[in-house]
Amino acid sequence: MATSTRFQPVLDEIAAAMQPLLGQAGTVASYIPALARVDARQFGIALRTCDGEEAAAGDADTPFSIQSVSKLFTLTLAMQAVGDALWERIGREPSGNPFNSLVQLENEQGKPRNPFINAGAIAVADRLVSHARAEGGSAKARILALMASLAGEPVGFDEEVARSEAETGFRNVALANFMKSFGKLDNDVAEVLDTYFHQCALRMSCRQLARAAGYLCRDGAHPIDGEAAITSERQTRRINALMLTCGTYDAAGDVAFSIGLPCKSGVGGGIVAVVPDRLTLSVWSPALDATGNSLLGMKALEMFVARTGLSVF
Ligand code: GLN
Repeated sequence: MATSTRFQPVLDEIAAAMQPLLGQAGTVASYIPALARVDARQFGIALRTCDGEEAAAGDADTPFSIQSVSKLFTLTLAMQAVGDALWERIGREPSGNPFNSLVQLENEQGKPRNPFINAGAIAVADRLVSHARAEGGSAKARILALMASLAGEPVGFDEEVARSEAETGFRNVALANFMKSFGKLDNDVAEVLDTYFHQCALRMSCRQLARAAGYLCRDGAHPIDGEAAITSERQTRRINALMLTCGTYDAAGDVAFSIGLPCKSGVGGGIVAVVPDRLTLSVWSPALDATGNSLLGMKALEMFVARTGLSVF
């Protein structure tokens, strides 16, 4: 792995600028104990260019709970598995509602607005369960295999987080049962949710995530083994479009305005961002703003685009 001489100083500067702000504002996700006890005074940033150069600063090698960043990768698996048929069950519009809203789902007869709100990701997990079963495998094993292949090293689930998600995920249980009642889930609700709770519990570092998302800046080509295709070029464009319009919950408009990059965030404080044809970037800091996005993560991304001038616009 070669260090990017262009970007390493930029990431060092950003990590240094974040130091005095650590633990000053925002709140760590508290809906399960394993996330509530994470130290807010952490910040990591890493990137990988299309040519395989890397840069990293701060706590870039500390693994954290990737939570909803996983929705990016399960969407990718489902696009590989079922292609355009996926869109019969899931929409492509920003929701304008919190990521776990029930109201919209009822109004729209159990068809989630997009794959990045919880209901959408649960519907994606349902597709993965069906597809894996038809081929004699398990959706959880496929998710782990994809992540390890993309990151270039083994990746695991945090079983404590997965268990707590299951014990306290009443709203996700409601969303799944709601979709089931509308005939929009094919599989057993418990099995679909077990897959969803485990994907949320993937533990990865910024460096691993920046690598893993690499196909999104390379027209779908595998980030490490450039020969293999993870998605087609067209699918990659579509994933990036969904990240830009729906990847940061209710804040997507603001993020497009102030950062201008396709992003996917999670309540663990991680964010993945894509500069098409150039690089993928990952930031992590556990304290969240009111929209559920990492406060310092967003600040760091703003600084990155201001310093480098990189944006899709
Ligand atoms: N595990 C969380 C949930 O399902 C993930 C939410 C998120 O990161 N937005 O509620």
